[in-house]
Amino acid sequence: MSLTTVLLGPHVANDLLMARYSSLKQAKGAAAGAGNSRKAIRSGTSPTSLTLPRQKPHRMMYDWLLFDADNTIWDFDAAEAHALERTLLERDLEWSQEVLSTYRLINRAAWDDFEKGRLPKEQLRDIRFKRLLEHYRHDHPAEELSLSYRNYLAASHHLLEGALDVLQRVQGRYRLGLITNGLKEVQRPRLQNTGIAPFFDFIAISDEIGVAKPDAAFFAHAQACMGHPGKDRVLVIGDNPNADIRGALDFGYDACWLRLPGTANHPKLGATYQIRRISELPDVLK
Ligand SMILES: [Mg+2]
Repeated sequence: MSLTTVLLGPHVANDLLMARYSSLKQAKGAAAGAGNSRKAIRSGTSPTSLTLPRQKPHRMMYDWLLFDADNTIWDFDAAEAHALERTLLERDLEWSQEVLSTYRLINRAAWDDFEKGRLPKEQLRDIRFKRLLEHYRHDHPAEELSLSYRNYLAASHHLLEGALDVLQRVQGRYRLGLITNGLKEVQRPRLQNTGIAPFFDFIAISDEIGVAKPDAAFFAHAQACMGHPGKDRVLVIGDNPNADIRGALDFGYDACWLRLPGTANHPKLGATYQIRRISELPDVLK
């Protein structure tokens, strides 16, 4: 387990530690209440939190775990590279790591625009390929590339290492939801291909709901699917700092940021927890 997980994890949030922490604060004449002290410990801002011993919790902190799908459970990067390579090579179009990097920049910008309401859903499917073809000055129908790419992506079955094991370990102990920004004709077949649908009590796909993370309306939909539990009983796990983590925190949920290797840090993000591999999640939940 990483040092970050130890420092930010919930192990310290139990009654024994609260009592010890309160007595430490009283001894120092601190005025903060118990609610504030809990937050201070979990955010790692209290100097005393560094010296507190780890204890077994008295109860589980969450009833619901809401997982993002792409690059949280599914290896989207691998699936995307495979789908794009097949699509371009079949048409004798240029393929290289540089083309892949360019497409990823274009795709991320398009999704950012969509998630921020600046790009209509109807344009999202094809505009990424229009921009890619323009960039390389290829004369080819973007709609045909877009359809081929989506078909290959829909047929993908790539899972992140350790993801299936994590789902098996948390199944039965928590209720699970899948919350994904994506196109229904791509995400639904992938649920079948990867066999993960039975793990989840509900599955929310932005394309089917009509609104995407981080919009509060997306999380309100999830909240209704769960039967409106206390928001402090829900933990969102995802790789996207804006769509997953910012969206969850703004809605009132806790959030575990899966900051995959190679991802820039966001020091002010304020994630409740941070892990580097999905296999670290069970340590956070102990
Ligand atoms: Mg993701």
